[in-house]
Order: sequence, then structure tokens, then C-alpha cells
Amino acid sequence: MDNTFDSTTRNANSILNAFSKKFATKVNAVYINSLKREVNFREVSVNEQKTLSKTMVGNEQRKDIVYDSQCALINRLCLENDDSSLKQKANAAAKEALPDAIKENKVDLGTPEGAAFVSRFTNEYVKKYISDNSFDIYNLTEFDRLRILMEIYQNNYINDEISFKCPSCGFENKYKLDFSKVIEKFNEFDLSDQTYTVEDNNFVYNFVLNYPTVRNVSQFYKMYAKQYKNTTAKEKDALDNLESVDYINLYIKRIEMIDKSTQEKDIADLSYMTYDDIEKLISMFPQNIIFSDDKGVLNYIAKNLIMKINSVFEYEKCTSCGAQAPVGIGGVSDFL
Ligand SMILES: [Zn+2]
Repeated sequence: MDNTFDSTTRNANSILNAFSKKFATKVNAVYINSLKREVNFREVSVNEQKTLSKTMVGNEQRKDIVYDSQCALINRLCLENDDSSLKQKANAAAKEALPDAIKENKVDLGTPEGAAFVSRFTNEYVKKYISDNSFDIYNLTEFDRLRILMEIYQNNYINDEISFKCPSCGFENKYKLDFSKVIEKFNEFDLSDQTYTVEDNNFVYNFVLNYPTVRNVSQFYKMYAKQYKNTTAKEKDALDNLESVDYINLYIKRIEMIDKSTQEKDIADLSYMTYDDIEKLISMFPQNIIFSDDKGVLNYIAKNLIMKINSVFEYEKCTSCGAQAPVGIGGVSDFL
């Protein structure tokens, strides 16, 4: 701390202000795969960490609540959402765009209508600019979210010790997770779309697959929590199972279906659909195209996208019986 900071001459508010500014300048840059650039995050405060821990401990059965509070924390920590500088930029951009808009719309600035046009144009421009340029985790992918959380946890020493119950002997193991190793593995992921093709007697199906958006996953958890509100703990546990058939639908971005007899092609773009509609669409398909062990698309997703992201964890041996077990109870999404 430098000497110009003299707490005795300032009141509590200015001390709080000064500290919050200092902490906000300590940044961690995280590479965001789907944005293809680095984004700066500030560190987690004691208060924020306490709130996060409380939420996680108090809501073991409410994945929807934990998920949204983690997303809110990510958005809050992001320094790109520092309101004042973004507003300034938005206003400057609006000023620059205004003369062309006046010319284009033949606005007479000497009239009340002209003045109204200027204020309406400026307001709308600023609003759009801010929403286009804000960082919002809900617009990114589940892969990005896991990656950002990993780095936030690493930089803030959250949750680095994890425990898991050995599936073979029941022994409670404790491990210190090596975040840098996990992040290194994340960096090797190929995040381009994958196409999986399968056919039956009538159609050729091309499924375009990738990690789901955070918005869709959040919607899914909310819907699931509502659906399972008054059910048993066992049914609620299904929510934690990433290979659950319901969740897996979110990995399908697009479906092309070609009729073999007519060559007619139908295309469904799932990235713009709500979770409910995705579920309805998938449920119309022939059972064995979706579910079968040898050619079902969900089986392909489980093997090539979900198990792959879970494999970023080191496989550790149970210290009691020696059985190989993944660190973390189910996989990366359960842990984060
Ligand atoms: Zn064991």
C-alpha cells in the first residue's frame, strides 16, 4: 500500500471507495474460448465468497439456484461491465452516429419533432450499444462457464480441496485439486461444431453438436426444479447426472434430415429454441436414432462431449482400497 493512503484523514466511505478501486485494478485475464479473446475479472471479495459458500451448502438439491448464483458472480466480477466507462463509450458512439441518422431521416433540428428524434435516437443507440458490448455469461457456452469458474476458483483459492466417497469401498478420500493442470487440459479442447451422421431406412440425419449455451442450461435447471419440486431425493439426484437424457438434448445445435426417397431436406436450428421446444422436437424422432447404444446421437454426445469434459479431472486412486476413481463425485459440472 502506498503512503498517500492515510486512513486517519478520510472518512469510512472514502476508505471503502479507495479500497474497492484498488481491488478492482487487480485483474485476472481469462481466455474465453467462444469469444476468442481474453476478458478481465476482478478477485472475489470475502463477502462474495461467503455468499457463494452459503448458497452452495444450503441448496445441494437446487442445482438451478446454485447455477444462477455462480453465473451472477461471474457477471459481477467481470470488469468489462464497469457501468460508467461503458456508458461513456456508448454516448460517444451515439454522438458519432447521430449526424448520419439526422441526414438519413431528413430531420429538421429547429422543430420539436427534431429534438424528440435526437433524444430517442440517442437513448436507443446507447441501450443497444451497452447490451451488445456487455459481457453476459448467459450468452456464452457451458464450456466457457466451467473454464471461467475454474480460473476464479484457482485465483481465489476456493474449493481447492475436494473429497469423494470411493464407489468401491465407501472410504471418504480428500484431494487437493491441481487447477493449473485442469486448465491446461481445457486449453486443448477443440470447440468447433461436431457433425454426427446416422441413418435409417427412410432418412439421413445430420446432427450438429456442441456445448450448450449457459442460458439454455439455466432454463433447463429451472424447468427441472419445478418438475421435481415434490418428488423424492432420488429423483432430485437425477438432476446431478449429466448423462441424464433430458440434459443431453441441449448439446444438439442443429438437425438436418434428408428424406432418402425424395432427397427433400428439413433443417431445424435448435440454438434459437427454448428448452421446452427442444424437448418436444427430440421426442418426435425415432427411438433408435436418439437412444440406441450403437447409433443413438445421445450416446455419441455422452462419449464425445460429456465424458471428455469430465476427463479433465485427474483419475486418482482411492487411498484405502486402491480403486481408480475420478476426483470429484460425478464430473466437472458437479464440482463446479
Ligand atoms: Zn476405495
